[in-house]
Formats: sequence, C-alpha cells, structure tokens
Amino acid sequence: MKLNGTSSNFPLNLEDFTATEIGDEHVATSVDTPLRPDAFELSDEEKIKRIEAHFREIMLIMGLDLTDDSLKGTPKRVAKMYIQEIFSGLNPENKPKIALFDNKYQYSQMLVEKDITFYSNCEHHFVPIIGKAHVAYISSGKVIGLSKINRIVQYYAKRPQVQERLTNQIGLALKQALGTKDVAVVIDAAHLCVSSRGIQDTNSTTITAFYSGKFAEEATRQEFLKYIG
Ligand SMILES: [Zn+2]
Repeated sequence: MKLNGTSSNFPLNLEDFTATEIGDEHVATSVDTPLRPDAFELSDEEKIKRIEAHFREIMLIMGLDLTDDSLKGTPKRVAKMYIQEIFSGLNPENKPKIALFDNKYQYSQMLVEKDITFYSNCEHHFVPIIGKAHVAYISSGKVIGLSKINRIVQYYAKRPQVQERLTNQIGLALKQALGTKDVAVVIDAAHLCVSSRGIQDTNSTTITAFYSGKFAEEATRQEFLKYIG
C-alpha cells in the first residue's frame, strides 16, 4: 500500500499500522480522500443545482423519459442525496465534534465497540459498500462517548471510498481524537460492485484492519479478535 498523501493532521508512521489490500481493481493510493483544492468553493445549494442538471443529462442520454411522473424528480433527489446524505462526509464542516472526558472509572482495559453498521460507496463504481466496523482502543486517561465512535465511522463512510482508506481514516481519526496510539479497527464489508456486477460473487466479503500501538502486539490483537468473534 502506498501512502503518499500524508496530511498535516495525521503524521503517518508506517510501522504503526498495517492494512490489507484487496486486489488490483480496488487499491487505495492515499490515506487522504483525493480532493481538489477548490472542493468547497461552491455552496451545497450550488452543487445540488449543478449535479441535478448533469444527472438529468445522464438519464436523457440513457433514453429515459423525464416527463414520466416517476422519473421527473429523480435528478434533484439524486443530487440532494449525494450532497446532504451519502457523500456528506466529504465536507469537513460535517466532521463530528469530539469531546474528551476524563476516564474517571480508571478503566484501563480494552474498550471494544463492535458491529457498527455502515453504508458507504465504492469510489470506482459509485455503488454501495455495506459493512460492519469493529473498533477498539485502550484509554490513555481520556475517553469519548460511545456514540462518537459510531459518528466517526459514519462520517468517513459517507464519502466515495475504498475499504482500505476507510479503515485507515477511521483508525487515524480515533488516534487523534483519543490522544492514544492504542487503536484497532476491523472492517468486514460486502461490495455491491463485486456482488451485483462483474464477477457476481454474492457471498464474498472483504476484511481490512488497522492496528496501532499495543494492537500491533499479538496478545492484544488476539484479545480484540476474540471479542469481535
Ligand atoms: Zn467498485
């Protein structure tokens, strides 16, 4: 895996995490989502307007009759869905605000949040990736609300994604939010671009992992894997 898009927020240390790769059609090239420098110059309203016009054109080219009652609202619906829902995680304004709390219970063991369901989209085909994320960390004295872990997963899922990048983005965001290196993320997901088109394998899922700090040690990693079963 190449990680040539280091960002200032996340000093990357290649020794401190591992990620699996899933084949030549879906290789991530950077931990950062590739965005243009002018990505946020247009307002959301303007983006919706422009996407609506272009999506209408795509439907017309395919020969669809946009005067049909069932189809006429589709370009606008798709445009709003892209900007306000399924790709809303592109906009840093939508990044969850994370408050840290003192770990007043003095809980110093592993905390595991498992089976976090997410819906993302493959950036190569713009069809869904549906999966579960399992996340763990060991508190360095600070903790975050459990719902915030879920929100971090959902924020990065709501982008055009490849699974390896999603895994790394969640892991790095948690390290930063929690102020600890001891973070693990495992993602198990089905890619509709694999199941519904191409080779049409309806049963396969892809597993990717991010292990940092103590999770790079076999015993800690095994304990986490045992919990997520
Ligand atoms: Zn795909």
